[in-house]
Amino acid sequence: MPSYSITPADPSGHLFRVELRVENPADEQQLWLPAWIPGSYMIRDFARHLLSLRATNDNNSELQIDQLDKQTWQVNGTQGRNFTLSYDVYAWDLSVRAAYLDQARAFYNGSSVFLAVKGQEDQPCSVRIQPPTASVDGRWRVATSLTQQTVDADGFGVYHCGDYDELIDHPVEISDFAHGEFMAEGVRHEIVLSGRHRADMARLEQDLAKICQHHIRFWQVPAPISHYVFMTAVLGSGAGGLEHRASTALMTSRDSLPMPGMQGTTDGYRDYLGLCSHEYFHTWNVKRLKPRVFMPYQLVEESYTELLWWFEGITSYYDDLGVLRAGCISAEEYLERLSQLMTRVVRGPGRFRQSIAESSFNAWTKFYKQDENASNAIVSYYTKGALFALYLDLIIRTRTEGKQSLDDLVRAVWQRHADDGVPEQGIPTVAAEVIQCDLSDAFALGLYSTDDLPLADLLAQFGVSVTWGTPDSLKRAGGQLSHLKPGRCSLGAQFEAHPQGARVRVVINGSVAHKAGISTGDVIIALDQIQTDAARIDEQFAQYSIGDRVDVHLFRRDELRHHVVTAEVGADTTCALTLQDRAAAQRWLDLATPTA
Ligand code: ZN
Repeated sequence: MPSYSITPADPSGHLFRVELRVENPADEQQLWLPAWIPGSYMIRDFARHLLSLRATNDNNSELQIDQLDKQTWQVNGTQGRNFTLSYDVYAWDLSVRAAYLDQARAFYNGSSVFLAVKGQEDQPCSVRIQPPTASVDGRWRVATSLTQQTVDADGFGVYHCGDYDELIDHPVEISDFAHGEFMAEGVRHEIVLSGRHRADMARLEQDLAKICQHHIRFWQVPAPISHYVFMTAVLGSGAGGLEHRASTALMTSRDSLPMPGMQGTTDGYRDYLGLCSHEYFHTWNVKRLKPRVFMPYQLVEESYTELLWWFEGITSYYDDLGVLRAGCISAEEYLERLSQLMTRVVRGPGRFRQSIAESSFNAWTKFYKQDENASNAIVSYYTKGALFALYLDLIIRTRTEGKQSLDDLVRAVWQRHADDGVPEQGIPTVAAEVIQCDLSDAFALGLYSTDDLPLADLLAQFGVSVTWGTPDSLKRAGGQLSHLKPGRCSLGAQFEAHPQGARVRVVINGSVAHKAGISTGDVIIALDQIQTDAARIDEQFAQYSIGDRVDVHLFRRDELRHHVVTAEVGADTTCALTLQDRAAAQRWLDLATPTA
């Protein structure tokens, strides 16, 4: 049985010390590290941070190690006798996907720090989590959903895992964190906040309990967990999350957390609740119900599937909907978030170049490697996937006269494929078997075509009207009628601050900027000989009328250029949804207690 030990050994140098004792090795024993972490579909080559590998046998004789490729090593001449491998791991990645260590906190995913013993991946293993050996801030404790074997009051000690896959699916936070706890449907949940904050833990416990209870009941099967940990790194800015089988690692900005005495919710807090709801829904959808090609995961190279629209799009649909149905936000707040989602999809002309099935398949090289042209070239299987989920939900409700909904399809896919994984064409097949209406046209449109989904007509049947307009700035996320300015001229580009002017970040294909040859990286310094910058340029350009010819002076690298643009009204790519008929909306939103 492989036994691991990990120590936050050098917080100043950001180094974890790892020791791995291998029993009953092959004479030439290979060890390998994942190239990617499940849930984040990009080759990250975590092995580049491993340092100073050394292997010794029980007589303390050094064994020769050969490196076979970027992530595989071979210990030679073991003669079948147990040996210990030791190495350092450089950990200075603040994201939820890798490992981090400084004086304030230690965090790691096993996929960044624990080499797998080739041929013993299916065996049980143990990991000893050691306290820091250097001075750190406060009293460090351990938070993790790993199964405890022998640990002290602070959580340091030995944990047990059924196999390597389990070892790397329980991230570990070690710091002087704030801690909360609640029960939902008999499951113990912990909340761990590391970093400086003044969050109202009681409020978090109360809201997350409602959301977790809602999701457990949604699936209509016994909860597949007995213990769950929400671990959040609190930072000045940033957001992100990664799902695991019994926990989630999250990042949020300090301002997104609820302050003591806060009434209602803020934009930031709605984002945070949506993120928690999203990752918790994954406990079922992607951590247990998976694409068949992920069973088991092949972690040394890309693993292709067209199904990420189901695992991320469906989850993205039910995240905010779960927050609404749990009673944490109002119907109006939910519709504002939904209109922001619709805005994000329609702002990108890339949706006409890629279907969500293609987006999913190419996640490794396109969605996860987005450049300045991404909004012109690709569509997100998260956002358009969520709109397809909405479309399916409303179509099923309409065509079955309210007898069935997407909820029934999601639960049927779980029943059919939780054990053997979803085959690539599996979703339409299950739908044809359990949903009492034909959905083949809906799947053809939503999955494989690049046409827009006819959501406005459907939403109208559920008491919600859709309005599209030009935003007063492309920085506007959408969602509010007051942000829509009909007939407003727009360059159709996004800008960022630059010492000399407005630096072009993104040019939308078909826009005024595109037609005039303005490109990403250009720094626009003047419109009609008047100085401009990123804060003013949208407002300045909006003063022109259709057909006006405008002199644009810009720097491309160090060369001054003159372009002439012809003003046009911006595209209607910003959406606001309005609740017109609460009773009709209730047939879809399914509010437990209609909000006033
Ligand atoms: Zn997700």
